[in-house]
Amino acid sequence: MSVLADNLQTVNRNIEAACRRTGRLPSDVTLIAVSKLQPVSLLREAFEAGQRDFGENYAQELRDKAISLSNLEGLRWHAIGSLQRNKAKYVARYADSFHALCELETAQMLANKREGKPLRVFIEVNVAEETSKSGISVENVPALAEGVRRLPGLELVGLMTMPPQQDLHTSRSLEQNRGHFARLRELARSLGLSELSMGTTGDYEIAIEEGATIVRVGRSIFGNRLHA
Ligand SMILES: *Cc1c(COP(=O)(O)O)cnc(C)c1O
Repeated sequence: MSVLADNLQTVNRNIEAACRRTGRLPSDVTLIAVSKLQPVSLLREAFEAGQRDFGENYAQELRDKAISLSNLEGLRWHAIGSLQRNKAKYVARYADSFHALCELETAQMLANKREGKPLRVFIEVNVAEETSKSGISVENVPALAEGVRRLPGLELVGLMTMPPQQDLHTSRSLEQNRGHFARLRELARSLGLSELSMGTTGDYEIAIEEGATIVRVGRSIFGNRLHA
């Protein structure tokens, strides 16, 4: 088995174990392989190993990869990074989901450009408030959710969070992230949203224990990235 296929198997087994610990079904958790800055050859290899959901941060890179890999049937693209409005067309055209919505104007651009089945949208929430820079504050989420729900072409499905970078080797920082994940879950519940996109290489098992329905894992699958 290749290193990549082996990594994927390990991550999937960890997901299953986290589900078992909390009485959840592994089929209720989707693994997004975060492939930003990775070559298409590695994405192809992951696809051959059974991976179907891929996450990209940069809209143009997503477009280029979607064109290169358009022959891989069943592959789904998730745009997970912040989006400049002039690049919304790429996400509207190629992505299945957008995980980083922070403003209504972007949602309107996406709605204008979307054709075919609705784009699944997640509002990105800065649940940690003081330290994290991406996402909107908790108190602004209900108004944005209401605005997005009025737009055609978009389906608001859930919330996403990216906790501040922390030294995840200490149990204290992991437990802090657990608190952030739990807060996101309660917020989603209060808004009637069923999907929770949370957890990365350092903390996806804890995120699943706290209710994640989607985890976004890059380095544990592909190894370290060249940049960023
Ligand atoms: C890069 C990135 C990930 C994956 O992080 P890893 O540490 O490689 O698992 C997940 N979500 C977002 C929004 C990212 O930018």
